[in-house]
Formats: sequence, C-alpha cells, structure tokens
Amino acid sequence: MDVRKVVLREDEMPREWYNILADIKMNPPLGPDGNPVSPDMLAPVFPMNLIEQEVSSERWIKIPEEVLGIYKIWRPSPLVRAVNLEKALGTPARIYYKNEGVSPPGSHKPNTAVPQAYYNKVFGIKRITTETGAGQWGSALSFACSQFGLECRVYMVRVSFEQKPYRKTMMQTWGGVCVPSPSTETKAGREALEKDPNTPGSLGIAISEAVEAAVSDTSGQTRYSLGSVLNHVMLHQTVIGLEAKKQFALINEYPDIIIGCAGGGSNFAGTAFPFTLDKVNGKAIEIYPVEPAACPTLTKAPFVYDHGDTAGYTPLLPMHSLGHAFVPAPIHAGGLRYHGMAPTVSQLVNEGILTAKSVNQLECYEAGVLFARTEGHIPAPETAHAIAQAIREAKQAKEEGKAKVIFFNWSGHGCLDLGAYERYFSGALQNLEMSGEEMRAAMEIFKNYPKPANLKSR
Ligand SMILES: *Cc1c(COP(=O)(O)O)cnc(C)c1O
Repeated sequence: MDVRKVVLREDEMPREWYNILADIKMNPPLGPDGNPVSPDMLAPVFPMNLIEQEVSSERWIKIPEEVLGIYKIWRPSPLVRAVNLEKALGTPARIYYKNEGVSPPGSHKPNTAVPQAYYNKVFGIKRITTETGAGQWGSALSFACSQFGLECRVYMVRVSFEQKPYRKTMMQTWGGVCVPSPSTETKAGREALEKDPNTPGSLGIAISEAVEAAVSDTSGQTRYSLGSVLNHVMLHQTVIGLEAKKQFALINEYPDIIIGCAGGGSNFAGTAFPFTLDKVNGKAIEIYPVEPAACPTLTKAPFVYDHGDTAGYTPLLPMHSLGHAFVPAPIHAGGLRYHGMAPTVSQLVNEGILTAKSVNQLECYEAGVLFARTEGHIPAPETAHAIAQAIREAKQAKEEGKAKVIFFNWSGHGCLDLGAYERYFSGALQNLEMSGEEMRAAMEIFKNYPKPANLKSR
C-alpha cells in the first residue's frame, strides 16, 4: 500500500534545534555608529537568553522540556503525500507536504512563539509586545503567552486588521490585546499617520510601534518579540525540517525539490535549513523560497544593509530589502508583505545555494483552490505561494517525464482568510506587480548605506 501520511511518535520528536550559523558565513548586524552590534545593545529589546541564541554558533541547541511539553499539543506534525493533487495534475512526481496548520493558532508560528514566551518568562519578563501582519503571529504569541501567564500586546497592520477581524478575536480569546497599526499610541505610529492618514500600514511600521512600546516601559519588565527574520526564530522553526528528515527516512525517500513561502523567511528556513547543509555538502537538490510578485524582496531587491522596521529602531541587517520605507501593495497574503528577509536566507540566496521564485496573486488562489478540492485542507494565502510553486514543479516533472520528489511546507490553514477567497471567487482580486519605476524609487534609500560583503560559505 502506498504511503498517505507519515506520523512520528512523541518520543521521536527532535530534542535539539539546528543552528545554521555554525555552517555559514554571515555579515554582522551594524549599530547606529556603523560598528557591529554588541549583545548588550539589544538588552532593552530582548531577554539576554534569547540574545545569546541569536548570536550563538553552536550547531545544536537543546529544546527545553517545558517547550517540548507544549509542542506536544500538536507536534510531531504529519508529513502527507498529496496523492489526489498528483492525480489531478497527472504528474509522475511524488508531492509531499508538512502540515503545520495543525497547531492551535493554525500555522507554524507557535514553533517559535512558545520558546520565545518560555525564555522571556524564565528571564523574569511579565509582558511582551509584538507586531502582526495577517494576524497569525499575534495569535500564535497570544496563545504562547497564555501558556506561560504572560501579557501580550499586538500591533496589527491596519489593512489586515480590517480584512481579518476574527484574528483579533482569537488573540482576545487567548488574553492578548490587539491594536490596529499605525496607532496614536507611539511616536512611530503618529508619524506614519501624519505622513499618510489613509495608510494601509505595514509590518515595518508595526515593528517600530511594538519596539517603541517595549523599550519605553520603564519598569524593565516588558520585552519585544519578533515572529520571523531573526536567527533565533529560524533556529526554533528547524523543528519542522528535522521532523521531516526523519519522516522521509522512514519511507526511504529524500526530496529533490524543497519549497516554502517566504515573508520574513521563517517557515521556509525551518523547513529547508536541515536539508540545506546536505546541499552545501554536495547533494543535488533544489531549494526554493517563494514570495509574492507584489513584494519581490529576494527575486528583485538587492542584498544590502537595511533596518528591519520603518522608523529605523532596529540595527542594520544584511539582507535582501525593498527599503524600510517601502509599503507593499495590500495583497491578501499579509504575512508575506514585508520589505526585508531573514539575513540567513538572504545570505544563502546571495551565494546561489537557494534559488528564489515569485508568484502572482491569482496563480496562488488558483493553486489554493485546486489544493482544497483535491487534498481537502484550505490553505492560507501565504501557503498558496508554496503550493503554486510545487504545482509548477510537478507540471515540469510531467513534461520531462521524471518522477521527482517535491516537498513543500504547508505553513497554515486559511479558515480565517475566507474573505480573501470570497474576493477571488467574485473576480475582485487582481495581480499586483511592482513596477521598475517603483523599484528605482524604493532603492534611493540605500544611497548612503554601508554594503555587506559577498561572503562564501563553501
Ligand atoms: C506568517 C506566515 C508566513 C510568512 O512568514 P515567514 O516568516 O516567512 O514564514 C507564511 N505562512 C503563514 C501561514 C504565516 O502565518
């Protein structure tokens, strides 16, 4: 009988996360004086135990028992073969996906929300601030904070706050407080509103608000948390790829192509990094981060030093970036509307170890609907980017008559994104692509910025 899904036992769960910093070369983040940032400088923003993880070059980092205990609510997540999708496409390829939609908030995000809440709690922090795009991260952190008895305050990008009102209710149910961003609560928010009172908001602005809210609490008991981009977030997410590796080994398979949608890069990195090392060591595999054509960070923007937020509160990070002032088009895949990209993912794209792809909005919904009608689960619009690329690869395998193994991460379900599906079905959605003119204007910001070096890891 053919395998439909591979399920690990709880005692087969990974006990350590994989830290790719042990195996690649990176440019350092830079402070306001142009020198590399020291851990102390980040202390008002993050607890020191997480800062230590952020800069660690240990290859394996132990997952605390308390974190494993909460992971077990939904982990290990299943590796599923998309048999019906293969049939519908008539492809000889075997398509597998890791279903990260089985977590309580419905995405991969609690893989890092839970350890972040845990390390904050251990450090004596009482309250965490954060931003959220589509609301997935805000709900994941609200869930995680509720597990550890921490307060959670979430600045949610206004366009998503309006498109996805139930995400706010989820946060509230877990005890989190959700504020539309830009808000009048912070200097960064007020400045953004002054510039454009009708702004749809952006992740960059919301990050500025959440950082400001954390560092301006004089009690010292508030810290900020970021749901993607940073090294420690990529680290926590590797539980996805590490489980998948064991699952593939159980059925004597190994992927030829690995795919993940990429907003800040975390679900992609978590899926792909445990396999990336094999590629660096010579294994012939293709690894594709997939982004929206409306926000082409990896496929069109340069590798630069840029701030992670709009107000410029964060250090300069070496990454592919559309510029911290860029406000992406209001596509429904809110989790992919980010100007930058994880420095680790950016570095590996810059080295040619990963190959970035982009997909337009309508192709994504077409793929999402085909997936729902074949495999049943309704994907988040973000996830649909990965599915669209997997379908492209399956069609190509059919043309070439090759039985390739395609693996993608199913980052989350779309049951709170049905408004977007409704707009797709009514024909109200269109493809949005960044023009060359917009691109040139966005790049102006980098004229006087330092440039990261072209490092080679192999
Ligand atoms: C947040 C989110 C993403 C994008 O974030 P990454 O850090 O790039 O993973 C993708 N899919 C879903 C379902 C999300 O919630």
